[in-house]
Amino acid sequence: MKEEVKVFAPATVANVSCGFDVLGFCLSPIGDTVIVRKKEQPGVVITKIVGQDLPLDTKKNVAGVAAEALLEDLQSNQGFEIEIHKGIKAGSGIGSSAASSAGAVFGINALLGNPYTRNELIKFAMKGEELASGTPHADNVSPALLGGFTIVRCGKGPDVISIPTPPDLYATIIHPKIELKTADARSVLKKNIPLDKAIQQWGNLAALVSGLFKADYELIGRSLVDVIIEPERAGLIPQFDAVKLAAKNAGGLGSGISGSGPSIYTLSKGKENAENVRTAIAEVFAPLQIEFDTYVSKINTQGVAIID
Ligand code: ADP
Repeated sequence: MKEEVKVFAPATVANVSCGFDVLGFCLSPIGDTVIVRKKEQPGVVITKIVGQDLPLDTKKNVAGVAAEALLEDLQSNQGFEIEIHKGIKAGSGIGSSAASSAGAVFGINALLGNPYTRNELIKFAMKGEELASGTPHADNVSPALLGGFTIVRCGKGPDVISIPTPPDLYATIIHPKIELKTADARSVLKKNIPLDKAIQQWGNLAALVSGLFKADYELIGRSLVDVIIEPERAGLIPQFDAVKLAAKNAGGLGSGISGSGPSIYTLSKGKENAENVRTAIAEVFAPLQIEFDTYVSKINTQGVAIID
């Protein structure tokens, strides 16, 4: 059996417009690379983190917490070393913590001969999310582990369903390099929702999921509307409305806040539209004194994967 694996753990978009806290999808070009190695002594150690200043302490790093949750559940004494090469900046809103958690548990599971399915690994990766944000949410770790689009029906358990990905669907991401704390993005949210808004929201979510099943790009575009969370949060992200408009005019199906921001995602039919959206939104940001990155990604239907 193998002693070491190298895993690519992809970035993800959660809070997909009307699917706040339940719908997410997986990206391909960006992610963490996590190397997991067996060691003789029991326990988990994080030996190295490249690319960002994050804690090596197993109890303070999401990868360590997720790995220990798996080993405890399995009652395994096998020890592991974890090395994390960060490709995603923490706090960018595209699932940085989820990628490290998913990569660690996927690598350990592979080295142990896959005692758990990908779906079963979600509950361990969620422990990492609990460390990062205070709640064990599954909306980023699910698409990271399963690929494609996922619905988290219920956070406890959890009950996660994979949704088909239309073959020609692409995402464009802009990550403005400003700090937006998840806690601050949460604090602007109202606790109660008017019934008329709730009805619009669940109508849109049901239609969006139908659009994904039917590969109906028009329907996907019409349904990518968030009447509850986005109006509260849009003001926290510079140029949000201008980016949305530019993306639409450039041929995008629809845009929204990725995670709790500051990244913004746009879905498009076809790579050409997705690239045109990238150019258009970069033009919106170019005159500002804010650094930014942009990415174009086919929806990654594979999820976390062994690369070596
Ligand atoms: P994101 O949505 O990009 O994952 P979060 O704000 O949810 O950002 O999570 C980042 C938090 O998790 C930061 O406080 C960071 O210090 C902590 N953290 C701990 N370990 C890691 C890791 N391996 N990768 C990313 N963030 C980590």
